[in-house]
Amino acid sequence: MAAFWTEADYDDHEMVEVVHDAGSGLTAIIALHSTHLGPGAGGTRFWHYAEPADAMRDALRLSRGMSYKNAMAGLPMGGGKAVVLLDAAHRKTPDMLAAFGDAVNALGGRYVTAEDVGASEADMVAIAARTPHVCGLPAEAGEIGGDPGPFTAMGIYQGIKAAVAHKLGHDGVQGVRVAIQGCGSVGGGVARLLARDGADLTLSDIDGERAKSLATELNGKAVPAADIMGTQCEVFSPNALGAILDEEGIARLDCTIVAGGANNQLARREHGQLLAERDILYAPDYVINAGGIINVSLEYLCRQHGEPCDIDEVLKRIGQIPERLRQVWQESERSGESADVVADRMAQRLIGRI
Ligand code: NAD
Repeated sequence: MAAFWTEADYDDHEMVEVVHDAGSGLTAIIALHSTHLGPGAGGTRFWHYAEPADAMRDALRLSRGMSYKNAMAGLPMGGGKAVVLLDAAHRKTPDMLAAFGDAVNALGGRYVTAEDVGASEADMVAIAARTPHVCGLPAEAGEIGGDPGPFTAMGIYQGIKAAVAHKLGHDGVQGVRVAIQGCGSVGGGVARLLARDGADLTLSDIDGERAKSLATELNGKAVPAADIMGTQCEVFSPNALGAILDEEGIARLDCTIVAGGANNQLARREHGQLLAERDILYAPDYVINAGGIINVSLEYLCRQHGEPCDIDEVLKRIGQIPERLRQVWQESERSGESADVVADRMAQRLIGRI
């Protein structure tokens, strides 16, 4: 097997640490892509991987994605990510969380963790008992911190409105057809915000009941998960899985805009070009889905500096997402390169890699 640092996904990571703790049974990978702009911030994913190499690939890709996301969000944070390798039963114990917290702490603040798939606020509280380098801790409604999902949804909603204005010349989303894949924390939040503005929603989830009950609540319609990518609409909004935009997925799309929160939506780099060739406007995932990390990063920075957290500052920064998307689209139109290539280059410049 080739060493992982010779693979493209490694992309000059500053540090990759594999943590084993025999006592608790913890196996984790902490990947720090870049600390050029500040401590590497990015959540911890608790997941069962068929092969350890899959966990390494996930950690490396997600960590680089966080470097780009934090840079494009204008945050004084670098990019990092951790994965905790769970067994097939997804067993996660207090001892494992404590050992993971110790591993984060040993990095002395170079890496700041938060929630990701498979993690809860309660897990962050357990980790925070061992290290101050954690964010996404419980917050009251309307306060900074806590579940990043609603803040992510807010940024995506604003990004969709910017895309509709840019591509279709519409002011607002009244009557605009939006097909949403995934009705969880992010997709459900996006759907509720769009419904308030009169968008025409088609919803899907592998949990069919979840999609149906949201459709009833919002006066939209639910379709089987297998049908959502072929739904005729103006906006397809992926808010479930990554890597859905491959040859087959893109060929099925019947939309003019792709704008949603799922991480790593393009299966491979060339798929951004395929979207452009179909004249579909793409909102690069890490630009549009930064609302959650903006919220928890500011929570962390306030706590570190002993300052009160300011929700208005979070909302102001989320409100800058549409402008960043417009910069990407305008440069893409000027240069003829696809939006993802333009965004990657902007991000790489910001983190001093080009
Ligand atoms: P979630 O677990 O709350 O919701 C995901 C939903 O997608 C679930 O309802 C699940 O049943 C559904 N789903 C899974 N596979 C599906 C499929 N094939 N078709 C349709 N639905 C499917 O997760 P979330 O927090 O809403 O995150 C959604 C996506 O957004 C993920 O890719 C995540 O990495 C990304 N993201 C989330 C945040 C955040 O703040 N939560 C921030 C940035 C990116």
